[in-house]
Order: sequence, then C-alpha cells, then structure tokens
Amino acid sequence: MKKNICLLPGDGIGPEIIVQGINVLKAVGKKFGHEFLFSEALLGGAAIDATGEPLPAETVRMCREADAVFLAAVGGPKWDNLAPEKRPERGILGIRKELKLFANLRPALLLPELAGACLLRSDIAARGLDLIVVRELTGDVYFGVPRGQEVREGQRVGFNTMLYSEEEVQRIAIVAFETARKRRNKVCSVEKSNVLETSRLWKEVVLETHKQYSDVTLTHMYIDNAAMQLVRDPSQFDVILTGNIFGDILSDEASVITGSLGMLPSASLGASGPGLFEPIHGSAPDIAGQDKANPLATILSAAMLLRLGFNMDTEANAVEKAVRTALADGFRTGDIMENGKTLVGCQEMGEKVLERL
Ligand code: NAD
Repeated sequence: MKKNICLLPGDGIGPEIIVQGINVLKAVGKKFGHEFLFSEALLGGAAIDATGEPLPAETVRMCREADAVFLAAVGGPKWDNLAPEKRPERGILGIRKELKLFANLRPALLLPELAGACLLRSDIAARGLDLIVVRELTGDVYFGVPRGQEVREGQRVGFNTMLYSEEEVQRIAIVAFETARKRRNKVCSVEKSNVLETSRLWKEVVLETHKQYSDVTLTHMYIDNAAMQLVRDPSQFDVILTGNIFGDILSDEASVITGSLGMLPSASLGASGPGLFEPIHGSAPDIAGQDKANPLATILSAAMLLRLGFNMDTEANAVEKAVRTALADGFRTGDIMENGKTLVGCQEMGEKVLERL
C-alpha cells in the first residue's frame, strides 16, 4: 500500500524523537511491503522563526494532502513571551481545527515491564490498567457562546456556555463504540447529568446511539465518581467516552497514574481526511538536544497511526510488541530508569526497538 505521511517535528525534543518514529515506519514499510512517502512541514516555534506564524498556510495545505499527520511536540521558553495567538501551541489547536479533528483518543496502558513506575498502590496496579479515553475535541464549555467577562450589578463576572448538539454527541459516541469493538467491548460514558442539562442531552444521545451497538456493554458514570474510580480501580474501564472538559482532565489523570509521560501516544480523528498522531508529552526543553528523550511515546504514536490511520492492525501490533520486548530486555531511557536496567539514549532506544521489529 502507498501512503503519504506529513511530518511535523516541531520544537525541543521534537526533531530527535520523530526521527525514531520515522525509522520505525520505514522498517514497517520494508517488512510488510508498504510504501510510505514522507513530507515535512513547519509547526510551532520552528514555524514562527521561519515565517512569523505558528501554523503557516503551507503546513495546512501539506497536512490536508497527506493520508496521516505525524507530530512530535511544539513550544519552548524562546516563544513564551509572545501574544497568545502567536504562541507555538496555537499551531496545534489550529491544525486540529483545520483538519476538523473532533475525536481525541488517548490510551493509558500500564505495561507489566513498567509496573514499578505506576503511581498507584501495588495491589491496584497488579490488577492492570489498559483503557482508552475517547474525548470530544471541538465542543463543550471551551467553545460554546456566549462567553466573556462583564460587569453585573457592580461586580465583574465571568461566564462560559457548556453546549453540545446531538450531532456532536452522536459522532463521538460512534467513535467510542467502534473503538470498544476493537478492544474489550465496554464503554463507560462520563458526564454530570445529575446537575447539567448538557449532560442530560449527552446521556440521551449516547443511549440512542447505543441501539446500533447492542453488542457493546454501555455504563454511565458521573465525572466526580469517574475521577475517583480511576485511581481506586482503573482495571474496570475499557473505553471512557466523555466531553471536552471532562476528557481534558480525565485523560491527564489516566496517563499520569501510569507514571511515564514519555510512554503515552495519542490520536485525533475527524469524520474523513487525515488523522493526527502525536505523543501526549510536550517538547521537554530541559532535555532537548541531549539524546535523553524517551522516543517510545512517539513510536507508539506511529503504531496508532498504522492502526487507526491506515487500518494496519498487524503492523501496529508488531511495533507495540517490539517496544514491549525492548523494555522486557531491560532497556530504559532516563525518565523510566530503574535499578538493574540498562540506561540508553533516545537514538539507542529507537535502535533497540528497530532490532526487535
Ligand atoms: P513537557 O511534557 O514538555 O515536560 C514535562 C517533563 O517531562 C519535563 O521534565 C520533561 O523533561 C519530561 N518529558 C517530557 N517528555 C519526555 C520524553 N519523551 N522523555 C523524557 N522526558 C520527557 O511539559 P512542559 O515542561 O510543561 O512543557 C514544555 C513545553 O512543551 C511548553 O512550551 C509547553 O507549552 C509545550 N507543550 C507542548 C505539547 C504538545 O506539543 N502537544 C504538550 C504539552 C506541552
């Protein structure tokens, strides 16, 4: 199969880690007989330095023409004092919007090889953690209008609008049910329908959509309980379906309890067109250019790109297995280092994965 991949290396450790992801994709192409063609575009600080804009029009054009977009990370202290609309992070929000990406998929997986890094009590960690948060990305209180600040009765007030249309809820629910079918067939819809009208509509539409997915087990949970259950017994979850703001918080919580930021990939998908695949961590300016970054989140994002972007399950499984084997063989970057293991740099970790592929 022939596929075009647009690369967005970005800033900080971005250029170092993306190279390891590209090497893995090239090796997959060779092993499984696919032709991956790579193009590279500017995003974030690198784009600001070259063009004055965090998301140049040329980058949008190149991403739209690709079959998938592979992003490393953006940002850094050099650009911290710019106006909000000129900052590197605007490039990421902008490209998600331009590509109409409404579903953010973030797996949180505690690999047995890294159980020592988990922040949970060992008896809870022993039950395992393998879930995915499916977060709606374009609606909710982040985008609803009216929004603003004004003076009412002599006092400043701030206000935002939590708003979801049934179409927005339905399309993200479909993504969650479809995702569950490829996993353990369970969806937990998280909202606050005991208090919020928006959540009541959310729940109604999720129930209606579920009628087409009766093979998937659907449960409902209030956000406050979900935040608690995630640390009490994360093994109960398979797919967590939720809105933009609750998903923002829950997906960070789910990933941090695994203890390894440098291990976690993500995907953002739209109804059609290319998806965007990226590690969840930032550009780590404190270790940039020192060959210290963990490239595994990027390599695992490449696996998500293969599975969700190109429907290449076998290829994605092979990449994930190679990562696990490299860990099982004792190789660790500094962020996940434990006693008795072998410390390697970014490039060497990439090589260890390649050898096992
Ligand atoms: P960060 O994720 O970059 O780093 C947090 C800590 O984790 C740092 O100590 C860093 O060294 C470490 N870390 C992160 N990724 C690592 C990896 N792959 N291997 C080893 N260690 C790793 O978050 P931050 O420090 O808050 O932000 C730094 C910059 O990144 C900021 O400009 C921020 O705006 C930006 N950022 C970008 C994204 C993105 O591109 N999607 C996401 C978050 C933050």
